[in-house]
Amino acid sequence: MQNFSFQKVLKKPDVKTLLQRLGDSIGKNFAIIDTEGRCLWGNAQGSQAKADIYAHQICLGTVTGDLAPHSAEAIAAVVGYIVQTEYEKKQLAKDALQKYEEVVFLSQFANAMATCTGLHELIEVIRAQIRQVISVDEIFLYLYDQSQDSLAPFLYKTEDSLRDFKAIEKIVERVLKFHQVEVIDDIQKDPDYLNQPSRIRSLLCCSLTVQNSIIGVLGLAHYQAKHFDSSDLNLFSTVTGQVAAAIRTAQYYETIKNYSQTLEIRVKERTMELEFAKQQLEQVNQQLKHLAIYDELTQIPNRRYFTSYLEQEWRQCLRQKSPISLILCDVDYFKNYNDLYGHQMGDKCLQSVAKIIQNSLKRPSDVLARYGGEEFIVILPYTDQPGAYTVAQRIHHYLAGAKISHADSPTNRYLTISLGIGTTVPLLHYHPSDLIKIADQALYAAKGAGRNQTKAKVLSFQCS
Ligand code: GH3
Ligand code: MG
Ligand code: MG
Repeated sequence: MQNFSFQKVLKKPDVKTLLQRLGDSIGKNFAIIDTEGRCLWGNAQGSQAKADIYAHQICLGTVTGDLAPHSAEAIAAVVGYIVQTEYEKKQLAKDALQKYEEVVFLSQFANAMATCTGLHELIEVIRAQIRQVISVDEIFLYLYDQSQDSLAPFLYKTEDSLRDFKAIEKIVERVLKFHQVEVIDDIQKDPDYLNQPSRIRSLLCCSLTVQNSIIGVLGLAHYQAKHFDSSDLNLFSTVTGQVAAAIRTAQYYETIKNYSQTLEIRVKERTMELEFAKQQLEQVNQQLKHLAIYDELTQIPNRRYFTSYLEQEWRQCLRQKSPISLILCDVDYFKNYNDLYGHQMGDKCLQSVAKIIQNSLKRPSDVLARYGGEEFIVILPYTDQPGAYTVAQRIHHYLAGAKISHADSPTNRYLTISLGIGTTVPLLHYHPSDLIKIADQALYAAKGAGRNQTKAKVLSFQCS
């Protein structure tokens, strides 16, 4: 009943009234004297009877007065009862307040921990929160790695704390092993104390478990012996469950964070690889498209492309009733050229001829293709025979200007070409191959007439 005032209880109005009524009911005056002889209530005149007042087996004072002994004893019993009841009420209120503060602390603690994402941040929060309610010099954490069966200290801030914690290592292992919470009043007297310099004297340690698996030990240390009491132990025990769960969550979070970072890097690498593969595929596709359309040697469209382009332009000219011309080109005495200069030179020569013919074409719709061997073909949509002649003349002119030596040509010292023009205005019952046929006939005529010249034919009703 420390810090409890007997005097204060007697001064309470309801207690005073009760005592007054008690006196009135027995028709006697009485006084209440404390253990130091001070009169706390009533009138002490005439003191035949005396009875000690007890509450919780502690003597608080005496009832005295002009009373029969049994009356004095009865009054002392009533007063004792009143005091005891008041004391218990006060104790209950104190306990309730303490519990309330504990609950507030625990919820604040839980909230503070819930905002942490990493282990380092969490340990700082745990330190700060515990320091608010328990006086400590150091707070330490050892983490247990189940796969390695090893216990390692988490974060030593200074050399001093490193030394401090070395000294208690064995004690911490014991706490972990026996799965307990322990107050050690003086570590220097503990059998597991490692005899080396340490500022720590008192310890409050608790093993941390989450769903029956141990994750480490949390400890509070103080530089004075016998520092921690049972209320520290109780409070500490109530928070360790939350602490353990928060540490485990932070560990999971860090594992997931690390994993997701690695995953992000892998995804980036994979994306780059895929991007590269995609580019390569696009390149290959482009090459394939090119190969499908272009002739490898001369890099002008090939015969397949010629056929489809001719069909397309044929249909256009058919719709628009426009003329369309073909110029079939065949290098003169090219066999002799190959024989004289070699096949490689022959190839180069064909590349030059393709360029020369290409340069002779001025409209975007005019297309040159390699028809086969040393034969080329020009499609001239919307072009009548005079127009085709103009282009043919330009081809002869440009080729002559290029002066490609051909020492074994019976017609000229330079390379020449024979051209056959076929022209028509497409009709429904004609076919593009008809036009090719007459261009071929014209070419044949040019060859027959001595080469290095152009002959032309028209595909019409009259013509066959
Ligand atoms: P003509 O004036 O009657 O057309 O005589 P020509 O020698 O040009 O005709 P011919 O059809 O007898 O010979 C064509 C030659 O063209 C035969 C072949 O060796 C050559 N030739 C065809 N394609 C190529 C090629 O891609 N490269 C080379 N170097 N020569 C080719
Ligand atoms: Mg030929
Ligand atoms: Mg030829």
